[in-house]
Amino acid sequence: MDGRQRAGGDMSGFTLELTDDQKQIRDWLHGFAAEVIRPAAAEWDEREETPWPVIQEAAKAGIYSLDFYAQQFFDPTGLGIPLAMEELFWGDAGIALSIVGTGLAAVGVLANGTEEQIGTWIPQMYGEPGDVKVAAFCSSEPDAGSDVGAMRTRAVYREATDEWVIDGTKTWATNGGIAQVHVVVAVVDPELGVKGHASFVVPPGTPGLSQGQKFRKHGIRASHTAEVVLDGVRVPGHCLLGGKEKLDERLARARAARASGTSGERVRNAAMATFEASRHVVGAMAVGTARAAYETALDYARTRTQFGRPIVDNQGVAFQLADMRTRIDAARLLVWRASWMAATGKPFTAAEGSMSKLYASETAKDVTARAIQILGGNGYTREYPVERMHRDAAIYTIFEGTSEIQRLVIARTLAGVPIR
Ligand SMILES: Cc1cc2nc3c(=O)[nH]c(=O)nc-3n(C[C@H](O)[C@H](O)[C@H](O)COP(=O)(O)OP(=O)(O)OC[C@H]3O[C@@H](n4cnc5c(N)ncnc54)[C@H](O)[C@@H]3O)c2cc1C
Repeated sequence: MDGRQRAGGDMSGFTLELTDDQKQIRDWLHGFAAEVIRPAAAEWDEREETPWPVIQEAAKAGIYSLDFYAQQFFDPTGLGIPLAMEELFWGDAGIALSIVGTGLAAVGVLANGTEEQIGTWIPQMYGEPGDVKVAAFCSSEPDAGSDVGAMRTRAVYREATDEWVIDGTKTWATNGGIAQVHVVVAVVDPELGVKGHASFVVPPGTPGLSQGQKFRKHGIRASHTAEVVLDGVRVPGHCLLGGKEKLDERLARARAARASGTSGERVRNAAMATFEASRHVVGAMAVGTARAAYETALDYARTRTQFGRPIVDNQGVAFQLADMRTRIDAARLLVWRASWMAATGKPFTAAEGSMSKLYASETAKDVTARAIQILGGNGYTREYPVERMHRDAAIYTIFEGTSEIQRLVIARTLAGVPIR
């Protein structure tokens, strides 16, 4: 054994081998994706409706619940969530987003809410396996997409009645208007920019909240996306996530930093660290879609015969597949690195979370486009799934921060200049 071999092996502590538990969960989710999600994909894409029966199935199987995500989240290696996302989105992106979309709102409550708020609202977001519900996270607005600081939705506190009155229009909300519980981000102090924002729960049936237009989309059409109009929505004081005392302290700190001319860098860094720690989740979804398209293309290339031989025997086709697979594996490694860093508290000094989201999203777009080419005319039809996968893949470079915003975050982090 030479020195190099001795330095590696079991003693290194480094491994990409999944544990037996991780393999078991991955295989179970793969089974659900293959047997329940994938066969329903084309139908719900055409219907452009929330696939309630599939969400119901996921709830019965134990996949649509906070417990399931909490278990995956607390996997000490960090791989629980990315493994789950890759398998579900391998099944179908639109249906998988309908299954995991509630998680966005749940994370909003988990990140900012008190224990009581978590215990009250999260169970209502999911409902019961026999009567499932969904939740929506509403931050984006018509004039505030990438530029969250331009948010206009306003929440004003009325001390006499201990309630908040919320007015504004949210857009692009996944599950917006059909949700049991909406989590809404609003401006409470316009002088403070993003530091003057707070999150509120809008309970089921609250007057003044209504669905605006439902968007007819290019892809992920099984996932409901709509405007949410808030017109004099009154919510009790206890619906402010984290509570009034904590908000007042936070606002006082931000005002003091502003008055003393300090930039509030620490607050901004904390917010950026939170985003970095979750960006790989979208990366994992993108890897799932890319892998699904690659596998379809590989099968097709092996069996489709032209000029008397399988098309994969042409280097022009085989090299495409080699590049596709290489990009997918590289994307997955970036996703796993970022999730491991998040789980083990490593600082994202090179915006590694953004890197994983950027690379995996662009990979999904590239790989699905190449898959269409490999399937030729069939690839261009709805008889084969790759055209749907290509339409679906486009979302990964847009939501949760566009590719341009990821590049901006990476570049500014590397340069050591403030992100915004
Ligand atoms: C299907 C879908 C589901 C969504 N779900 C949700 C949800 O549940 N909740 C929610 O709150 N939001 C949601 N979003 C909103 C999503 O996060 C935004 O669409 C995204 O942040 C981009 O904002 P925008 O669409 O306003 O684009 P804009 O910010 O207007 O960007 C337009 C273009 O300009 C580029 N650009 C902007 N600023 C810069 C810059 N400084 N430098 C370089 N390029 C720049 C962008 O990269 C993009 O290419 C969803 C969106 C979609 C499409």
